Amino acid sequence: MSYAFEPIGIVHSPFREKFGIPRQPGLAPGAKARLELLAPFDRPEALDGLEGFSHIWLTFVFHQALGTRWRPRVRPPRLGGNRRVGVFASRSPFRPNPIGLSAVALEGVSGSGGKIELLLSGVDLLDGTPVLDIKPYIPYADSIPDARGGFAAGPPEACMRVRFSERAQRQLACRDDADGLGRLIVDLLAVDPRPAYADDGRPHRVYGMRLYDFDLKWRVRGDTIEVLELC
Ligand code: SAH
Repeated sequence: MSYAFEPIGIVHSPFREKFGIPRQPGLAPGAKARLELLAPFDRPEALDGLEGFSHIWLTFVFHQALGTRWRPRVRPPRLGGNRRVGVFASRSPFRPNPIGLSAVALEGVSGSGGKIELLLSGVDLLDGTPVLDIKPYIPYADSIPDARGGFAAGPPEACMRVRFSERAQRQLACRDDADGLGRLIVDLLAVDPRPAYADDGRPHRVYGMRLYDFDLKWRVRGDTIEVLELC
């Protein structure tokens, strides 16, 4: 049996590549995105009642993992990339059906210019992600405060201090919502997005990720990340 599902929307997010994206929703509250509904699903009445919910579930396609073969065991970054767990014990994008699940904050709905868009924050989604479904997050059923969290019992530790070089500070100051962007960058980098094996002890190595329309560049010295530039 196979099923063909048509995306109901597409995500426009600041994350233009996989590297550096938060590993779960909510970790970077300043990660804002728009979910544009696609025809024929762009009907305002399909969202009737949603405004009463602060959060929604999104099911989506890991579209940049399509074409990569799944394996029964994966190495979650959470375990330093060197211990394996079963794919069904993980949130890995590389699964038999590459479908993702994220609970994100719903900030509002915008209906201007003939487009219907849901305004979201705290996303862990790549720009261009196709969304299969939207459901309200129902606190009484979906939140299980005493649940056990296996090998991911707590959030990743924000173990790095993040500093901005003078150049990066100047570049940041020229941006819209410089404070919000600065906080987003700190949230993204404080958890040290490098894969565990990348800590090769080369202090001059420059890392980069594409965010919005710029390249964010940084280097690592001990427990400090220095943001070099936004260019
Ligand atoms: N909350 C989701 C995603 C967890 S995996 C779930 O549990 O199913 C999170 C990682 O997925 C991110 O770090 C990012 O690198 C990757 N990712 C996000 N959107 C993606 C996409 N459209 N295609 C492939 N990988 C994606």
